[in-house]
Amino acid sequence: MRHQKNILVTGGAGFIGSNFVHYMYEHYPQYKILILDALTYAGNVANLPEAYNALRDHPQLEFWYGNILNAQLVNDLTARADMVVHFAAESHVTRSIYDSSEFFRTDVLGTQVLANAVLSNRNRIRRFIHISTSEVYGSAQYPAMDEQHPLMPMSPYAAAKCGADRLVFAYWQTYHIPAVIVRPFNNYGPRQHLEKLVPRFITNAVLGIPMRIHGNGRSARDFVHVQDTCRALDLILHAPQDAVIGETFNIGSGQERDILSIAEDICTRLCPDKTNARTFVGDRPGQVIRHTCNWEKIHRALGWEPQISWEEGLPATIDWYTTHQEWWQAQCWMHEIPIITSEGNKELH
Ligand code: NAD
Repeated sequence: MRHQKNILVTGGAGFIGSNFVHYMYEHYPQYKILILDALTYAGNVANLPEAYNALRDHPQLEFWYGNILNAQLVNDLTARADMVVHFAAESHVTRSIYDSSEFFRTDVLGTQVLANAVLSNRNRIRRFIHISTSEVYGSAQYPAMDEQHPLMPMSPYAAAKCGADRLVFAYWQTYHIPAVIVRPFNNYGPRQHLEKLVPRFITNAVLGIPMRIHGNGRSARDFVHVQDTCRALDLILHAPQDAVIGETFNIGSGQERDILSIAEDICTRLCPDKTNARTFVGDRPGQVIRHTCNWEKIHRALGWEPQISWEEGLPATIDWYTTHQEWWQAQCWMHEIPIITSEGNKELH
């Protein structure tokens, strides 16, 4: 088959990246997907479409086990791509509290390696989507955060992602690379590592381990289903140049949910006996208190809006975790991440 386009996906064996690879594989059989992933603790080739795992020499999927910091490899792959979507990153806020070195190497310097490769191949590359994060905003200074909200990262993870976000913006300003910056709010759905909130609570409930709530549980986030994110990325990839190049887009649900209510929603479905279903620890240092998305810009530009409600997405996600225990059992040792608090105490978060 002659491939109409080649798309390079970094971090395609992780949570959002693998959902995006599945999405593109299903919707665009005429595209070749090149996947680059270092398979850190968060990546897994089993996350790729079954067809790849059954047939390693797959005509539509090509997997490269490698590091985003390897300039030669990144350049070789980018030279073959028409479009690049960059997910690869260290992505867990709590882990960045006790050791952030890898976060800055991968998230900032890795993005620079890729941006340089895009620059070298700008005659061929039509689109470079950089996956940033809403964490770059910090706590909301007004109810629904739009793309103009000040950037006030509050954790080492958020600071590293903020560096990468501004680096891509500067490369667009300076060298006119075809960059688009996307800032997703909290994603949830299948194949998310259980260090993250929703899968951690679901698997806690399945195993009968109390869900650990930070602080008073009233800090709030905006949860968007990963399929909605994939659909937004599809629209951005295929939009006219003028509509997206050099732009930044939020992706979120626009709804705020606090941690206690998420625990409650999961409990209602999974813990018939609610006693001892929750336990409280101190607040996470650098905690973002409030975080809600304003997605009007991407709606105006591309007509995107979230389609999967929490009431639909949460039960589907619970189903996935309850029927894929073999997928997450080996991750259970990461249910708790140690940090040292400002008082010098070790606390499991
Ligand atoms: P994840 O941790 O599940 O996946 C990250 C992937 O990147 C893994 O497969 C890992 O092996 C790979 N990777 C890590 N270091 C690498 C390196 N040096 N070279 C090559 N590959 C490497 O993360 P995720 O939740 O899927 O997030 C994907 C992207 O989306 C990240 O950039 C993250 O900052 C961003 N993001 C995530 C969320 C969320 O809620 N999950 C929200 C907003 C933004």
